[in-house]
This record gives sequence, structure tokens and C-alpha cells, in this order.
Amino acid sequence: MKMFEGKNIKLTDDIGDDHIATSAKTPLREDAFAIKDDEKIQSIEKDFAHILHTLGMDLTDDSLKGTPRRVAKMFVKEIFGGLNPNKKPAPSTFDNNYKYGEMLVEKNITVYSTCEHHLLPIVGKAHVAYISNGNVIGLSKMNRIVDYYAKRPQVQERLTMQVVQELQIALGTEDVGCVIDAKHLCVNSRGIRDVASSTVTSEFGGKFKNDTVKREFLDYIKMNTDFESL
Ligand SMILES: [Zn+2]
Repeated sequence: MKMFEGKNIKLTDDIGDDHIATSAKTPLREDAFAIKDDEKIQSIEKDFAHILHTLGMDLTDDSLKGTPRRVAKMFVKEIFGGLNPNKKPAPSTFDNNYKYGEMLVEKNITVYSTCEHHLLPIVGKAHVAYISNGNVIGLSKMNRIVDYYAKRPQVQERLTMQVVQELQIALGTEDVGCVIDAKHLCVNSRGIRDVASSTVTSEFGGKFKNDTVKREFLDYIKMNTDFESL
């Protein structure tokens, strides 16, 4: 057990390699944004220099000296940039003027995320679908929502649920589904080192709980729409 700034924060390894999500909400502290990005970068830079130093690396080496700052910037601005609610894509929807009433699927959305148990990459594809009840959303907005929630320390189950919940709110309908198929480098490159395995998670809201609707969505995902095959 380790103490941070006098606060009683227990650092344990209860979850281990099991990748259990404890909640659909990212466990952020209330004061998560009490300090500015620049201060966070400075603080993480020092912490990372300490980690590399402890590992025995010579931080005066030309190749290494910029690493702590580079990693700190990457954490705050890029791979964990989606922790900041200010970076959430604006939920701009518009009226479904053309009265399209069928399912819309945005598939093969690239997912780059980071496993919060090992801080190693999660790389894969998300497939998102909804049935409009009057509102429609820009197609690229769905990619942006996936990317926003992916840029956090994550577990795949939570990411899947967060994407669905965000779209349900933006579109004002329960009828949203999401399937994510991704590789976890903590499984592929260490531990059990299973390069071939990938993890599939799904979340189905409203009409997507219906077997026929769900099947239609899953069949669209299977369709091969690579440019070469069109
Ligand atoms: Zn992991």
C-alpha cells in the first residue's frame, strides 16, 4: 500500500490480468482537471524520468533525454486526451429530412486505446449502428465519439458502453448498438503472449436487443467493403 499526498489511496493488484471493468463510468477524481495540462505534463515528465532512472537508464544519453517529456505530452495531449470533457465532440445532430427509417451502420472504425490495467495498446475496429427516430448524426461524428472515449485508460467493455450511451443521448433514442473487436497488447505481447486472440465486446440498446435487428447489424459488419473488393 502506498500513500499519495496524505490521501489514503490503496494501490493493489486485485484485478491482475483479468481485465474486469468495475463501472461504465471512467473512474475520474472530482479534481481531475484542477491543474492545467502544462502542469500535468511537467509533473508526469518528472515521474517518467524517475521510472527510467530507476530502471537504470542513462537519461543524459542523447536518445533518451527527451523521452520523459515526450511521453508526458503524449499522455496528456494524445493517448489520454479523451479524459478531458472539453475535448468531447459536439453532439451536432440534424433532422432526418429524407425520412430514412432503416438501420445506419458505421463500420470498421479504427480503435486505438490503452488498457488501463497494463497501459499497453488496444487496437481494433468498432462497428456502430443506430435506427433514427427523427435525428441523424454526421457519419464522421461517430468515428470521433469512438476516438474520444478510446483516448483514455480503458477497458474494452466500458468503451463499448460509453460509445452506445453517448450516441443514445446525442440521438435521443435507445436504438443504438456497438460491437468492438480488438487486440490487447497486454495479452498479445506479454503474459500469455497469444498473438492470434482478439476480444469482442458488444452493447445493444432498444431495438438492437431484438434478435432479427441484431442479426441484421452483425450481417452488415461481415460484408466485405474494402475498396479493392468493390
Ligand atoms: Zn491489459
